[in-house]
Amino acid sequence: MPTDALSREDPYTVDTTWWHELPDGRIQCDVCPRACKLREGQRGLCFVRGRVDDRVVLASYGRSSGFCVDPVEKKPLNHFLPGTPVLSFGTAGCNLACRFCQNWDISKSREIDTLASAASPDALARAATKTGCRSVAFTYNDPTIFIEYAMDVADACRASGVRSIAVSAGYINAEPRAEFYAHMDAANIDLKAFSEEFYEKITFAKLGAVQDTLKYLVHETDVWTEVTTLLIPGHNDSEAEIAAECAWFAEHLGPDVPLHFSAFHPDFKMRDIPRTPPQTLRRARRVAREHGLRYVYTGNVHDPEGQTTSCPGCAAPVVERDWYVLNRYELTDRGDCVHCGTTVAGVFDGPAGDWGAKRRPLRLIEQPGTRGAHDRRKAPR
Ligand code: SF4
Repeated sequence: MPTDALSREDPYTVDTTWWHELPDGRIQCDVCPRACKLREGQRGLCFVRGRVDDRVVLASYGRSSGFCVDPVEKKPLNHFLPGTPVLSFGTAGCNLACRFCQNWDISKSREIDTLASAASPDALARAATKTGCRSVAFTYNDPTIFIEYAMDVADACRASGVRSIAVSAGYINAEPRAEFYAHMDAANIDLKAFSEEFYEKITFAKLGAVQDTLKYLVHETDVWTEVTTLLIPGHNDSEAEIAAECAWFAEHLGPDVPLHFSAFHPDFKMRDIPRTPPQTLRRARRVAREHGLRYVYTGNVHDPEGQTTSCPGCAAPVVERDWYVLNRYELTDRGDCVHCGTTVAGVFDGPAGDWGAKRRPLRLIEQPGTRGAHDRRKAPR
């Protein structure tokens, strides 16, 4: 593990609570199933949590790798406040080690320069309100690893009427999971494949832990949940594997949870694998619908049919999309089909937004030092 110097004097470093001491003198981080066992000065696999002064700290509280206003459909969430803008941001590091990472410059960063933008929870909530965003999304890397910061941002946003979205691999232990998702309104969880072998060899994680998170979210919380599977040619795109995923999905999550099959592009340590052919995505969508899933989408391709929501009552196409642009919208303000009145599953609150496909980078300039409730750092000594 890396041993770059950590310091509790650093204005962005805060104490954390999910850890315990081991008999051999190491301290184990209990945030995710990775269970990093740390000696003094060591960082965990995620890089942003580590041991200093005999406790586990988070070294990225209040600083970000950048901010951008973009469409909620890009998260992807197709059934959560459609057409509205979302303030997206992330930090650095990740608790998985996916060889195909599509955000590796952020997730695998060991450069503190990546975290150049300071933003307190209150500043983020103000920025979201000022830019007309209905929600903020923790998205460029996994919020599991900066959970204390993400919860404080969510609290500040909730106080301003702005909702919070977690985009995550779902690789988190039960206790922090319950606390974290109590602060979230929506989530898109990556189900990266449907084999333990893929998870172990390609992501260095475990499928079972992700399945547990999905079942927890769908059955034990009010968090609106959608799921994404990135199909990688030759690795997780066989018809048998997709059928197994869809059968499990239908049985354990139900037909109303949206599933997105998205296209891989060569990146990070898997540059030798070609892009996902559109027909692979369409085949996966067909298999999912044959298993009874009502809302199945293709992503990262032009596929109007695969990006259409059909009414589960009368089968009319009620929402048509082209990438992130809504071309047809035939739902009431509460998400009912205008033709037959059947309710489409999701979170609908007023008319659809008209943000379209715009992407607007933001710059927040702020000094460190504004803290939230989960900042458990002692005052600087
Ligand atoms: S959150 Fe980071 S330090 Fe904690 S167990 Fe997971 S990878 Fe290790």
